[in-house]
Amino acid sequence: LGIPQRTPGRTRLGVMGGTFDPIHHGHLVAASEVAAYLDLDEVVFVPTGQPWQKADKEVTDPEHRYLMTVIATASNPRFTVSRVDIDREGPTYTIDTLTDLHELRPNADLFFITGADALGQMMTWKDAEKMWDLAYFIGVTRPGHELTIPEPAEGRVALLEIPAMAISSTGIRDRARDKMPVWYLVPDGVVQYINKYELYSADDAAAGAGS
Ligand code: ATP
Ligand code: MG
Repeated sequence: LGIPQRTPGRTRLGVMGGTFDPIHHGHLVAASEVAAYLDLDEVVFVPTGQPWQKADKEVTDPEHRYLMTVIATASNPRFTVSRVDIDREGPTYTIDTLTDLHELRPNADLFFITGADALGQMMTWKDAEKMWDLAYFIGVTRPGHELTIPEPAEGRVALLEIPAMAISSTGIRDRARDKMPVWYLVPDGVVQYINKYELYSADDAAAGAGS
């Protein structure tokens, strides 16, 4: 497959970027499956600041998204969460995420995990060609999206079929707004966090963490 082999003394670090508004079991299964198949030592979840593709949309306060990501990943010893994107000013670009992690973790080989929908758009990302030098990419199956390697990325991307989870954050926000249950789509602690801060209720879609 061309997947980089384990190098003695180097950490194999998965990178799971996302808006995580909110984090759900689709994200967690993707990270867990890639970690198992690629023998990763750790997967770092990186909640975005303001995602450039969602600039025209209301996105929940980064601190809420960050805390839900911490809650969802806390029980897995191999999962961690990074603030690099939410602490950086301006819109989030993957090239900056990878550059920062590369600097912070010089002994790590990076494996960027992405769903089929995001992989299909990846050639439109800022400095797409430069990303290959910083990370190897793993595209995972996602219901409703075709999984193919963008041609210029050939040799720097592997594809992995994972259990189909027909879950999206958009669907969860819609369900919460409609007062439909979100239990079992997101971890229990995330259901309780959403209720506690009344996230995704009709009149207050993006409440601040302190409000
Ligand atoms: P939204 O509906 O707000 O866009 P989302 O469910 O797509 O939310 P994101 O935070 O946009 O979640 O996605 C982060 C990453 O996780 C992307 O690479 C995306 O393709 C991947 N991903 C999200 N949901 C799934 C899923 N159910 N199966 C596989 N990959 C997924
Ligand atoms: Mg998405």
